[in-house]
Amino acid sequence: MVISKDKKDIVVPTRMNLDSTFTFACEKDIACFMRCCKDAHIILTPCDIIRMKQKMELSSDEFLYIYTTLGHIEKTELPVPVLKMREDEKKSCPFLGESGCTIYDDRPSTCRYYPIGFGMFHDQDSSADHLLFALIKEGQCLGHGLGKEYTIKEWRIDQGLIPYDEVNASWTELILRRKSLGPFTKIPDKSLQMFFLGSYNVDRFRRFVFDSPFLKIYDIPDERIEKISKDDRATLELANDWLKTTLFGDKTLEVIEQIADTNELEVDA
Ligand code: SF4
Ligand code: SF4
Repeated sequence: MVISKDKKDIVVPTRMNLDSTFTFACEKDIACFMRCCKDAHIILTPCDIIRMKQKMELSSDEFLYIYTTLGHIEKTELPVPVLKMREDEKKSCPFLGESGCTIYDDRPSTCRYYPIGFGMFHDQDSSADHLLFALIKEGQCLGHGLGKEYTIKEWRIDQGLIPYDEVNASWTELILRRKSLGPFTKIPDKSLQMFFLGSYNVDRFRRFVFDSPFLKIYDIPDERIEKISKDDRATLELANDWLKTTLFGDKTLEVIEQIADTNELEVDA
């Protein structure tokens, strides 16, 4: 969700919108093949974690423990998992194999967007939320100017980003709402833990729903309960609704009046 690379040779990115164009090709026979998969700063979105942990047949707890380290979303204190590079000399991505990405079909959004970086900002003057795009030109990447011209809209389709962006939409909204509060608002630690649990640790959030008084506090229809018992995306949607309710006071989830004490919920993120 932020510009993905943290290298010194990035040419200052050019701000773009969905209709902006760029010309780019990345093929296996290009001389720089796999260079971009080393020493990369890759922030993981909720959808990335679901896809990657399913691919690795791990729980989200295991995936987060083995493959990530903790970062923060730019200009906020909101936590975000960052892909941990190997501790070898080149700091390669743990998913880099001899012939390329070993999880290519489930690679994270940042890898799909590259060489486009993306971010979001809340315009205080117009109160509008915006997605920002930028073309990243690193000296090591030889794909610029080769191949086909794309608009960013076309690139997102070409790289299979639409389903990712759909799943991440509520999470993006939460981040923008946090940003709209401005830098001087302090988010309590418990809320940050809730944000981490609800955004990235879908299996633990599911246990939290079933093993805590959650279902006595919130009125969740039976078919939704049934769905979240086995579906990660449905669980993430419930987590997003819970975060909007608890962090921003939205009425996204209905509270059962007789036992409306949400303080009964202890988050163990
Ligand atoms: S996940 Fe795949 S595409 Fe992304 S940096 Fe790692 S090896 Fe490269
Ligand atoms: S450095 Fe650029 S062209 Fe080379 S493999 Fe990576 S994305 Fe493709």
